[in-house]
Amino acid sequence: MTTLTSQMTEDLNKITQPTYSEAYESEVRSYCRNFPEVFDTAKDSWLIGREGNRYLDFFAGAGVLNYGHNNEKLKRKLLEYIERDGVVHTLDMYSDAKEKFIEAFHDIILKPRGMEYKLQFPGPTGTNAVESALKLARKVTGREGIISFTNSFHGMTIGSLSVTGNGFKRKGAGMPLGNTSSMPFAGYLGEDADTLEYLNAMLKDEGSGVDKPAAVILETVQAEGGVNVASKEWLQRLRQITQDHDVLMIVDDIQVGCGRTGKFFSFEEASIKPDFITLSKSLSGYGLPFALVLIKPEYDQWEPGEHNGTFRGHNPAFVTGAAALEYYWKDDALTRDVGRKAAYAREELEKIIERQNVVASVRGRGLIIGVEFEDSNLADNISKACFDRGLVIETAGIDGQVLKLLPPLTVTDEELKRGLSIIEDALHAVLLADAEKVESEVAAAGA
Ligand code: PLP
Repeated sequence: MTTLTSQMTEDLNKITQPTYSEAYESEVRSYCRNFPEVFDTAKDSWLIGREGNRYLDFFAGAGVLNYGHNNEKLKRKLLEYIERDGVVHTLDMYSDAKEKFIEAFHDIILKPRGMEYKLQFPGPTGTNAVESALKLARKVTGREGIISFTNSFHGMTIGSLSVTGNGFKRKGAGMPLGNTSSMPFAGYLGEDADTLEYLNAMLKDEGSGVDKPAAVILETVQAEGGVNVASKEWLQRLRQITQDHDVLMIVDDIQVGCGRTGKFFSFEEASIKPDFITLSKSLSGYGLPFALVLIKPEYDQWEPGEHNGTFRGHNPAFVTGAAALEYYWKDDALTRDVGRKAAYAREELEKIIERQNVVASVRGRGLIIGVEFEDSNLADNISKACFDRGLVIETAGIDGQVLKLLPPLTVTDEELKRGLSIIEDALHAVLLADAEKVESEVAAAGA
């Protein structure tokens, strides 16, 4: 266990106040409330505050930083490009950087997997990719409805919100979110319930009240929704059901694609080929905004300019994105490494749960790992206690009841060990504080 020296605690207390953000930035800001530091620099698995406080990053920009902060190899490529005045903005005109990215994506990712897809570059955030996929699915099928799943998260614009489960986020739309039906995700009704039988019945039965939809949209591992994992078999059956009913399948791989679960795509183990795939977050490899929709060629029925945006396919992101594919995806070394680290982390988490005698379960796939605590307040308190000890880690799930481990895939063994040790230290401290609180309440009641 990492025990904090008084010097470390003192250092971490030197967090400076963010004068301008607190005064002038909108109340909508959120992550900064959980991690109240003014960050200045970052390298690999580390974030550094402006007073020099160092934080191990097990959040990785919610899946944006799979290759770490300011990855040295990718930075070189970016600097070279900027230094030679490589074109930065081209709307969707042809560029050398785009040519090279498409070539790399085709040769390194699609071709070896026997995948034939057209590439659409929408606006640069995940929700842009989701909106594009929903629009195209509706256009292609001539149908309006979309089926999404409980506890899903697909983004904050109106279309994406309409297929998102979270009630708080949906309410923020301030208007009815229509033309969607939410179905139970894998495991939502308990281990024994067959959620796909229910979906199949709803699609089959003319009396179900669910009109035949254009598409089904899903995350194979619901990240924001609590690290809920769909099994290989569940995904295969869902693919079969969508095909049987002539409904398109959209896999939103924005958070768990780009190697997060081990393979490049999160659904590869299930050997399915979705009709549309959305990618963003770690696609540029460097934290540069960048999104992509992969479309089966027969469904690429857009008219030129029918969907557009000013920042489609940003050239610096093409450069770092292509470099990330070249460096990390020409062989399976990263995939194997992710598998090894994930197995170690899960084993250690099980041991921590046992040692600390707490009721919790561990789940995930690859390096997205969730620890769900029976006491739903624990995860939040542990996240706070971790931050006090120099570890940035988030919670997930509708009540924030799941501690979500999302380190960079390039995290070193030593860093992984250290992060897990901080988690144990934080958990221990939170349990102790809870026990002391109960004790003093009992004493007060008896007095
Ligand atoms: N889809 C998934 C699965 C996500 O996790 C997210 C963001 O967390 C989005 C879509 C939306 O991406 P963005 O926030 O870049 O719009």
